[in-house]
Amino acid sequence: MNRFGKDSRWIIPLSRRRKRKKTENKVRYVVMNVYCPNGCSLMDNQNNINGYPGIRIKYKRPGMDGEFVISAIEGDFSKTILSGILEEGVKDELYCPHCNTIFKKLVNCDCSSDGDMVVLGLTKTLDYNNAITFCNVTGCTRGSFIKSGDVIRHVRLRAT
Ligand SMILES: [Zn+2]
Ligand SMILES: [Zn+2]
Repeated sequence: MNRFGKDSRWIIPLSRRRKRKKTENKVRYVVMNVYCPNGCSLMDNQNNINGYPGIRIKYKRPGMDGEFVISAIEGDFSKTILSGILEEGVKDELYCPHCNTIFKKLVNCDCSSDGDMVVLGLTKTLDYNNAITFCNVTGCTRGSFIKSGDVIRHVRLRAT
Protein backbone atom coordinates (compact mmCIF):
# COMPACT_ATOMS: atom_id res chain seq x y z
CA MET A 1 0.00 0.00 0.00
CA ASN A 2 1.23 3.42 -0.94
CA ARG A 3 1.22 5.52 2.19
CA PHE A 4 2.21 8.75 0.53
CA GLY A 5 -0.33 11.17 -0.84
CA LYS A 6 0.02 13.12 -4.08
CA ASP A 7 2.11 15.78 -2.37
CA SER A 8 4.26 13.21 -0.53
CA ARG A 9 2.82 13.82 2.88
CA TRP A 10 2.77 10.81 5.16
CA ILE A 11 -0.73 9.42 5.41
CA ILE A 12 -1.55 8.00 8.78
CA PRO A 13 -3.99 5.09 8.62
CA LEU A 14 -7.29 5.96 10.26
CA SER A 15 -7.09 3.19 12.81
CA ARG A 16 -3.91 4.59 14.25
CA ARG A 17 -5.00 8.18 14.17
CA ARG A 18 -8.15 7.54 16.17
CA LYS A 19 -7.84 8.92 19.64
CA ARG A 20 -8.45 6.82 22.71
CA LYS A 21 -11.70 7.73 24.35
CA LYS A 22 -11.14 9.55 27.59
CA THR A 23 -13.82 7.54 29.34
CA GLU A 24 -11.91 4.30 28.86
CA ASN A 25 -9.80 5.04 31.89
CA LYS A 26 -12.81 5.42 34.11
CA VAL A 27 -14.36 2.03 33.46
CA ARG A 28 -13.84 -0.16 36.48
CA TYR A 29 -15.15 -3.40 37.85
CA VAL A 30 -17.17 -3.60 41.02
CA VAL A 31 -17.40 -6.79 43.01
CA MET A 32 -21.04 -7.65 43.69
CA ASN A 33 -20.23 -10.58 45.95
CA VAL A 34 -17.10 -12.09 47.37
CA TYR A 35 -16.66 -15.04 49.71
CA CYS A 36 -14.36 -16.35 52.41
CA PRO A 37 -12.77 -19.80 51.86
CA ASN A 38 -15.73 -21.30 53.75
CA GLY A 39 -18.33 -19.58 51.59
CA CYS A 40 -19.46 -16.72 53.89
CA SER A 41 -20.36 -13.57 51.99
CA LEU A 42 -18.01 -10.72 52.92
CA MET A 43 -20.17 -7.96 51.48
CA ASP A 44 -21.08 -5.32 54.05
CA ASN A 45 -24.27 -3.45 53.18
CA GLN A 46 -23.91 -1.28 56.27
CA ASN A 47 -20.65 0.19 55.07
CA ASN A 48 -20.76 1.63 51.58
CA ILE A 49 -17.58 2.94 50.04
CA ASN A 50 -17.92 5.30 47.08
CA GLY A 51 -21.51 4.20 46.58
CA TYR A 52 -21.09 0.43 46.76
CA PRO A 53 -21.22 -2.05 49.64
CA GLY A 54 -17.71 -2.70 50.89
CA ILE A 55 -15.90 -5.95 51.62
CA ARG A 56 -15.59 -6.63 55.35
CA ILE A 57 -12.37 -8.17 56.62
CA LYS A 58 -10.99 -9.08 60.05
CA TYR A 59 -7.29 -8.47 60.66
CA LYS A 60 -4.77 -9.57 63.24
CA ARG A 61 -1.13 -8.95 63.98
CA PRO A 62 0.81 -9.26 67.22
CA GLY A 63 -0.83 -6.97 69.79
CA MET A 64 -3.61 -5.74 67.51
CA ASP A 65 -6.78 -6.93 65.88
CA GLY A 66 -9.88 -5.37 64.42
CA GLU A 67 -12.00 -5.09 61.32
CA PHE A 68 -11.97 -2.94 58.25
CA VAL A 69 -14.02 -2.56 55.09
CA ILE A 70 -12.35 -2.18 51.71
CA SER A 71 -13.86 -0.78 48.55
CA ALA A 72 -15.43 -3.26 46.13
CA ILE A 73 -14.36 -1.07 43.22
CA GLU A 74 -11.34 -2.20 41.23
CA GLY A 75 -8.40 0.10 41.72
CA ASP A 76 -10.05 1.96 44.59
CA PHE A 77 -8.02 1.52 47.76
CA SER A 78 -10.38 3.43 50.02
CA LYS A 79 -10.81 1.70 53.33
CA THR A 80 -12.96 2.21 56.42
CA ILE A 81 -11.42 1.01 59.66
CA LEU A 82 -14.17 -0.26 61.98
CA SER A 83 -11.95 -1.16 64.92
CA GLY A 84 -8.28 -1.25 65.84
CA ILE A 85 -5.42 0.62 64.18
CA LEU A 86 -3.68 -0.15 60.90
CA GLU A 87 -0.06 0.81 60.45
CA GLU A 88 1.37 1.91 57.13
CA GLY A 89 3.76 -0.69 55.71
CA VAL A 90 2.80 -3.31 58.29
CA LYS A 91 1.34 -6.67 57.36
CA ASP A 92 -1.80 -8.11 58.96
CA GLU A 93 -3.14 -11.62 58.73
CA LEU A 94 -6.61 -11.42 57.18
CA TYR A 95 -9.62 -13.45 58.27
CA CYS A 96 -13.31 -13.89 57.64
CA PRO A 97 -15.23 -11.76 60.20
CA HIS A 98 -17.98 -14.40 60.33
CA CYS A 99 -16.19 -17.76 60.69
CA ASN A 100 -12.62 -16.66 61.48
CA THR A 101 -11.06 -18.62 58.62
CA ILE A 102 -7.75 -17.20 57.46
CA PHE A 103 -7.72 -16.09 53.83
CA LYS A 104 -5.74 -18.08 51.27
CA LYS A 105 -2.49 -16.64 49.97
CA LEU A 106 -1.55 -16.83 46.35
CA VAL A 107 2.01 -15.50 46.12
CA ASN A 108 4.36 -13.15 47.90
CA CYS A 109 3.99 -9.47 47.16
CA ASP A 110 7.03 -7.52 45.97
CA CYS A 111 6.39 -4.64 48.34
CA SER A 112 8.12 -6.15 51.37
CA SER A 113 9.83 -9.32 52.50
CA ASP A 114 6.72 -10.73 54.11
CA GLY A 115 3.82 -9.28 52.10
CA ASP A 116 1.33 -11.81 50.80
CA MET A 117 -1.24 -11.58 48.04
CA VAL A 118 -4.43 -12.94 49.58
CA VAL A 119 -7.17 -14.28 47.37
CA LEU A 120 -10.94 -14.14 47.77
CA GLY A 121 -13.32 -16.02 45.53
CA LEU A 122 -16.14 -14.41 43.59
CA THR A 123 -17.98 -17.73 43.83
CA LYS A 124 -18.97 -19.61 47.00
CA THR A 125 -16.55 -22.39 46.23
CA LEU A 126 -13.14 -20.80 45.74
CA ASP A 127 -12.09 -20.80 42.11
CA TYR A 128 -8.74 -19.11 41.52
CA ASN A 129 -9.90 -18.09 38.05
CA ASN A 130 -12.81 -16.12 39.48
CA ALA A 131 -11.26 -14.20 42.27
CA ILE A 132 -9.79 -10.95 43.45
CA THR A 133 -6.37 -10.64 45.00
CA PHE A 134 -4.74 -7.95 47.07
CA CYS A 135 -1.77 -7.44 49.35
CA ASN A 136 -2.11 -7.75 53.13
CA VAL A 137 0.36 -4.93 53.84
CA THR A 138 -1.33 -1.62 54.72
CA GLY A 139 -0.66 1.01 52.07
CA CYS A 140 0.41 -1.43 49.35
CA THR A 141 -1.73 -0.90 46.27
CA ARG A 142 -0.90 -4.13 44.51
CA GLY A 143 -3.98 -6.07 43.66
CA SER A 144 -6.20 -7.06 40.81
CA PHE A 145 -9.28 -8.77 39.63
CA ILE A 146 -8.12 -12.06 38.22
CA LYS A 147 -11.09 -12.91 36.09
CA SER A 148 -14.75 -12.24 35.95
CA GLY A 149 -17.96 -13.84 34.88
CA ASP A 150 -21.37 -12.48 35.74
CA VAL A 151 -20.34 -12.07 39.33
CA ILE A 152 -18.79 -8.68 38.85
CA ARG A 153 -20.33 -5.72 37.21
CA HIS A 154 -18.74 -3.26 34.87
CA VAL A 155 -19.47 0.30 35.91
CA ARG A 156 -18.49 3.72 34.85
CA LEU A 157 -17.24 5.92 37.63
CA ARG A 158 -17.65 9.63 37.61
CA ALA A 159 -14.36 11.42 37.35
CA THR A 160 -13.08 12.36 40.75
ZN1 LIG B 1 -16.28 -17.26 56.67
ZN1 LIG C 1 2.29 -5.54 48.85
